[in-house]
Amino acid sequence: MRVAVLGAGPAGLYFAYLLRRSHLGAEIDVFEQNPADATFGFGVVFSQRALDFLKQDDAPTHDAILPHMEQWQDLTIAHRGKVTPIDGIGFTAIGRLELLRLFQDRARSVGIEPHYNSPIDRLDALDQYDLVVGADGVNSLVRNSLAQEFGATISTLGNKFIWYGTKKPYDALTQTFLETEHGAVTAHHYRFKPDMSTFIIEMGGETWERSGFAQMGETETIERCQEIFAEQLDGHKLITNNSHWRNFPKISTATWSVGKYVLVGDALRTAHYSIGSGTRLAMEDGIALVRALFDHRGEHPNEIRVALQAYEAARRPVVETLVTAANMSADWYERMDELISLDPYDFAYSYIQRSGRVAAESLDKLSPKFMAAYRANTAH
Ligand SMILES: Cc1cc2nc3c(=O)[nH]c(=O)nc-3n(C[C@H](O)[C@H](O)[C@H](O)COP(=O)(O)OP(=O)(O)OC[C@H]3O[C@@H](n4cnc5c(N)ncnc54)[C@H](O)[C@@H]3O)c2cc1C
Repeated sequence: MRVAVLGAGPAGLYFAYLLRRSHLGAEIDVFEQNPADATFGFGVVFSQRALDFLKQDDAPTHDAILPHMEQWQDLTIAHRGKVTPIDGIGFTAIGRLELLRLFQDRARSVGIEPHYNSPIDRLDALDQYDLVVGADGVNSLVRNSLAQEFGATISTLGNKFIWYGTKKPYDALTQTFLETEHGAVTAHHYRFKPDMSTFIIEMGGETWERSGFAQMGETETIERCQEIFAEQLDGHKLITNNSHWRNFPKISTATWSVGKYVLVGDALRTAHYSIGSGTRLAMEDGIALVRALFDHRGEHPNEIRVALQAYEAARRPVVETLVTAANMSADWYERMDELISLDPYDFAYSYIQRSGRVAAESLDKLSPKFMAAYRANTAH
């Protein structure tokens, strides 16, 4: 079986690594348009739950990644000057580039050397392959070339966000919400190395317009963002890495494969970053796809097609649950201007409930300190 993988991001590298490790005897070519160390953004988070899944599925990769992660047990909501800790919601974080390097090492350890600086611009360049895996991210060539056949839908959220970093090391995953003269703004900020943090700024489209960001260049944008979050940055600068304002794209497809073409990672679907699951989903897609290929080997003349359908059948329910949670969380951020007027404890409670994944009845067990403070400070 000859397999082409488009994209050496987390989805492509991890799939290629697992496929080689599965001893299916596949010839694997990974094509990446960029050099090996090109990446956008800064650190990404994994929930404790996501790490537990990885440990169960692939303990060696879990063990290779874990020592490079920052970890904490509580998260913090800073809302109009009041800081509310929420206990029991464990997260870990790692730099995107560092994670890519770890995946590159793992791929190399099984003899996979991606072809870097090798953009694929037409699908027919891959005609000689038996299986083509689109791990080519939100602007996927594979998905776009067969958009109708995949039943692809793309819409963009109204909020604007920009992904910066800073050298200020935050103690916990912190969500700061501020009211400016133009509307509500938030920063998602957390440490991903001892001396480096992610700092994502987000606001409604109208707040962004009224703030004049549309007319600002890169330097003025940074200066204005530094002014807004001066207290949180505490004298530190914002650092850029391909940082520009974007609207988050919501991507989904009616089917996950068309003939020999199959999608994984962001090419297949996106999950809003506020639940920190995109990379985890990308990795779990790889696990499920390799498992389906392995389980259906030698079974049928059309074994690849059968395996691709099995991959979707097994994985779609799990993905849909997480994507629903991500969409609910994204909607919560889209309503930030209305929610910000809640009292701090009600606001923090609404925040925890935003994705629908934490049942109200389990909160006493999960976050006992927060719930005690919530009850003491509200009429609930
Ligand atoms: C602001 C923000 C914050 C985020 N935070 C988190 C977080 O905290 N936790 C988390 O888990 N996820 C987070 N994510 C999501 C995460 O970054 C993505 O889900 C993840 O990178 C998806 O991996 P991927 O390999 O599918 O896609 P990508 O990482 O986009 O990789 C796709 C690769 O394909 C290559 N490529 C594209 N087209 C071609 C072509 N034609 N030929 C060759 N190569 C090509 C690209 O260069 C790229 O290297 C965040 C995303 C954003 C925007």
